[in-house]
Amino acid sequence: MPGERILVIEDEENLLEALRYNLQKEGYQVVTAADGEKGLALAREAKPDLLVLDIMLPKLDGLEVCRLLRREADIPILMLTAKAEEVDRVVGLELGADDYLTKPFSMRELLARIRALLRRSRMVSEVAPAPSTPKVIKAGDIEVNLDSHVATLKGTPLELTPREFDLLVLLMTNKGRAFTRDQVLERLWGHDYIGDSRTVDVHIRWLREKIEADPGSPGRIITIRGVGYRFEG
Ligand code: CA
Repeated sequence: MPGERILVIEDEENLLEALRYNLQKEGYQVVTAADGEKGLALAREAKPDLLVLDIMLPKLDGLEVCRLLRREADIPILMLTAKAEEVDRVVGLELGADDYLTKPFSMRELLARIRALLRRSRMVSEVAPAPSTPKVIKAGDIEVNLDSHVATLKGTPLELTPREFDLLVLLMTNKGRAFTRDQVLERLWGHDYIGDSRTVDVHIRWLREKIEADPGSPGRIITIRGVGYRFEG
């Protein structure tokens, strides 16, 4: 939607300018910072609708910015990584980034991801669940309240990112049903999302860390080799 504000934190000048140019051309308001400290301050001040965040930054790195902001706000965060290995850091640290792109990436792909993240974020904030939707869903000792967006395990609140929450709800409301990675991508990221299935695996791994007694040998979210995933309860 035009007018939405995007904060870009990136220290490579040429890339920052290319991002600014392309995002403005799409009708977004763009604010920028070239180091982590300024970026963090701007994120708090300018209240952006979405954050594009590089990992390797002067002063305060992107992982730390992400970690700090996640505690404060629910804005979508798209991380930019220079190396494929950093992907594991983004997800391994459970920072709560919503998506990532590995450099070099195409502007077209970046814009598609941003549109998908913003659309999803608007849906979460504007669309109430249908009246027929039960407000609380349960599976074993996991309980999810769709109104308050709180999920608990044995009565203890789970700290889930918005995407993990949606993934858990999707799986729980379709208990026993097998989902392919593409089906999960389509349900949670939208059909025009140009991502790879690794994105799904990564979010499943995060979620397992939080809800499985032994994430290495999961009993709730089962991997179906060659297919995808199934929730067993
Ligand atoms: Ca950088």
